[in-house]
Formats: sequence, structure tokens, C-alpha cells
Amino acid sequence: MSTDTAPGPDTVLDGDGDGALRSRLLADVTALRESFDAGTTRDIDARLAQLAALRRGLRSEEPRLARALAADLGKSRTESALTEIGVVTREIDHTMRHLRSWLRPSPLPPGLLLAPAAGELRREPLGTTLIIAPWNYPVNLTLAPLVAAIAGGNTALVKPSEVVPATSAALTHLLRTHLDPAWVRVVEGAVPETTILLQQRFDLIFYTGNAAVGRIVARAAAEHLTPTVLELGGKSPVFVDDGVDLAATARRIAWGKFTNAGQTCISPDHLMATARTAEELVPHLRRAVHALYGKDPRRSPDYGRLVSATHFDRVLGLIDDDKVVLGGTAGADRATGFIPPTIMTGVERDDAVMGQEVFGPVLPILVVDGPDEAIARIRAGEKPLTAYVFSNRRAIRERFAHETSSGSLALGLTLAHVGIPRMPFGGVGESGMGAYHGEAGLAAFTHAKPVIRKPLRPDTLRMIYPPYRGLRKALLRLLLR
Ligand code: NAD
Repeated sequence: MSTDTAPGPDTVLDGDGDGALRSRLLADVTALRESFDAGTTRDIDARLAQLAALRRGLRSEEPRLARALAADLGKSRTESALTEIGVVTREIDHTMRHLRSWLRPSPLPPGLLLAPAAGELRREPLGTTLIIAPWNYPVNLTLAPLVAAIAGGNTALVKPSEVVPATSAALTHLLRTHLDPAWVRVVEGAVPETTILLQQRFDLIFYTGNAAVGRIVARAAAEHLTPTVLELGGKSPVFVDDGVDLAATARRIAWGKFTNAGQTCISPDHLMATARTAEELVPHLRRAVHALYGKDPRRSPDYGRLVSATHFDRVLGLIDDDKVVLGGTAGADRATGFIPPTIMTGVERDDAVMGQEVFGPVLPILVVDGPDEAIARIRAGEKPLTAYVFSNRRAIRERFAHETSSGSLALGLTLAHVGIPRMPFGGVGESGMGAYHGEAGLAAFTHAKPVIRKPLRPDTLRMIYPPYRGLRKALLRLLLR
């Protein structure tokens, strides 16, 4: 666990130092823009070669990355392989396999009105892009967007999160050692560095993190009319319907909630069920947590830690021990960032834990009358990144799909769907805008450009030029009916 957010390693904030920092960052942006302008990143084989280099780098630097993730977040090597390095490797493989076909221009016939003519849709690179990453899955959420940036034929400046200093250093080493600086450069640092970067003109800013900073990014981007992809968070709800297999449901929810100690953007934030189902579910959840992390999760090598003292204090403040049925504040340890898997029942809408994204190992359970109330509650709040529904009834599942809006909807599972490159991953409304992974990532990092060609002869366009009289007028009226 790190202590509070520290300035980046090279940060000098005063006097000439500030100027030196600015010059260094501008030099990186300029170099990337020049190499984009020189056409370095256009060639598809060259893109594939950079992706292959990233894949090799991931493999050879895996021990260093895993050690860093363990130091910053207490992640086990297996969890790092599964949720960080493995996800990026699959993303690279999927992208390399399909890139040529995704980039093949697709025919876009202009139709009778312009005949004879031919059209197609091409995906062109955007230019020099900026990727700002968060701390919770720092390898995955820094490199998966980078895969899309490279695939799209862009240059990229990457800013890992300063909240995980060991992982930021390991990522920097990986990218500087294995990738071409004409394509990718890294800037380590915090607010001062990011603020300077955000003043520069980029062709896309891809930001992952909280919505308050998301607004800062969007405001800065507006200055240059730079498009943004904002991957934000929010309170992803779970509804458990009466009559489902509670043992299996509890295992899926417990795993989704307590992976990475709940510090997952799509972690099940809170659970809604009828009084009977909520009561019956609790012992199953307890058993599921014990099966995952043993009777003493502090000793489990697979249970993570809170990333910093600030986050520890915030999450601990959300726990109301009077409502706790598992875990609670008693076993927490600030020195190591340990908060036990905690479940609270009888939670009300105005409890502290419902006032913000939990983003920690605390599962509040709210009693609702049934699906109607659960749907109404989701609709009353901000649009979540993901909604989870466990129900045997098809009609109920469909109602959630039709009547609620969220970045994604997962029926009968938690978390696992984001590891699949075919599924676009992104939010809606307060949970973000834009999406990536697989082809969606390529779409985010390219411009879909229609290219149309019409021979000069026969000059059929003369038919629509003024003056509009006689036969021409009658014909046009006929065509436009
Ligand atoms: P964070 O603190 O690492 O911040 C994210 C990035 O923003 C960092 O690189 C940081 O340096 C930069 N930053 C911070 N303050 C800034 C400022 N004032 N100006 C410019 N840049 C600044 O991460 P976080 O925000 O604590 O991440 C957690 C949040 O992110 C949660 O809300 C979570 O749900 C969300 N999240 C979303 C996704 C997703 O894919 N949608 C993934 C992970 C996390």
C-alpha cells in the first residue's frame, strides 16, 4: 500500500524546474507528433510489429509487473495473470488476428441518385493520442487502450497512475525497453504533469478514472475540440430475484465483489433482493467468502489490500458495524490496508455507503419489494457502468434490459464479461462515454472516413444544378419524392 499521492519522480514544481518539466513533456508530445506526421505508424505490418513487441515485452517483464502489483495492491501472481497481464495478452492476440480484416475498407454504395459512383468506408488513424490511466488495474487499464491506439495507427503518450508507484515504474520500464519511442512514450507523474499534458493539443484523450477528474479532462479537451473517451465508474447494482440458485449466485457475487478488495470499476456495488431472499442469501455469501479466502482472509495470498491510507479511511468510513453480518471495522488494519470482506444488511438509501461508489470490499444489501422497486431505484440514480441481474424469469431479465440503462448488463455473472475482447467496454451518462476492447477499441482510436468516387463522364450531376425549370424540375421532383 502506498501512502498518500506523491508527485511524480521527476516533478519539480517551482521556478525554472516547472519550465524544465514543461519543456520535457512538450518535447515528448512534439516527437510523437512529428513521427505521426512522417507516416511512421501508417503501415499495418509496422503496427503488428509494435503489438508483437508489446506482447513479448509483457511476457518477459511479467515477473517485474507481478512484483509491482503485489507491492502496490497486494495482488496475487495468479490474479495479476488473470485480470491484468492475461487480459492485455488476449486483447493483443485478438487484435493481431483481426486487424487486417477490420481495416479492410468496407463498401459503401452511394445509391442510385449519384450513379455511376463507388464508395467505401476507411478507418484512418487520428494522430497523437494521450492515455491517462488509473491505479486499480494499472497494467490492464494502461495497456489495453494502448493496444487499440497502436492498432489504429496512432502515436501515444501514456500516463500511468502515480497512486501505484511500483507499477508505474514497471510499466515505464516495459514500454521504454520494448516499444519504439517513435510510437509510444511514457510520462510518469501526478496532477502537475497531467495538467501540463492536458494543455497540449492531442487528437484523442482516453481517460480512465473517477468522474470528477473526467470533467477536468473533458473541459481541457474542449479547448482544442479534442475528442475524449471517458471510462468512469459509479454504483453498479445487483438484483437477485426470488427462486434463483442462491449458492451459485452467492459465489459469483462474492468473487465479483471481493476481487482486488472491491477496487474494481464494475464491482457489484450493492445488492437488492426481497427480504426473504436477502435473508436466505447471507449464509451463502458467508460460505462463498470463506471458500474464496478461508476463515481468515488476512492470511489468504489471494485477497488484496486497499491501495492507500486515503482510500482505506474512506472505505472504513462507509462501514456501519451495527449492520455488519460479516467482516466489519474490527479486523481492519490501516498499516497494511487490510479491510476484511464485509457484508451489511438492512441498508437504507440514505446510509453513507449508498452516497458514493463503494470501491472497496464492502457489500451493502438493501431490501426491495421486488423487481419493480429495483428497476425504479436504478432509474432514479445515475446510469451505472454495469448492472447485474440474477433471475430465472426471462420476462424479468428482459424488463431490466428494456427499462434500465447502463454501460453493460450482465445476467447471471459478474466481472468476467469485461475480459472478452469481442465485447465493447464502456459507460453511458455518468459512467462514461465511448467504448473499447477489440474492434470497438479500433473504432475509438480511428476516424471512419467515407471515401466516394464518381467519374466526370457521364456528367449526371448536371441534373441537379440550377436553373430548375421544365423537364429538369419535373425529373428532380420525381426523384426526390
Ligand atoms: P487515479 O487516482 O489513478 O486517477 C486517474 C488518473 O487521473 C491518474 O492517472 C491521475 O494522475 C489523473 N489525475 C488525478 N487527478 C487529476 C487532475 N486533477 N488533473 C488531471 N489528471 C488527474 O484513479 P481513480 O480516479 O481513483 O480511479 C478510480 C475510479 O475510476 C473509480 O470511480 C472507478 O470506478 C473508475 N474506474 C473506471 C474504469 C472503467 O474502465 N470504466 C476502470 C477503472 C476505474
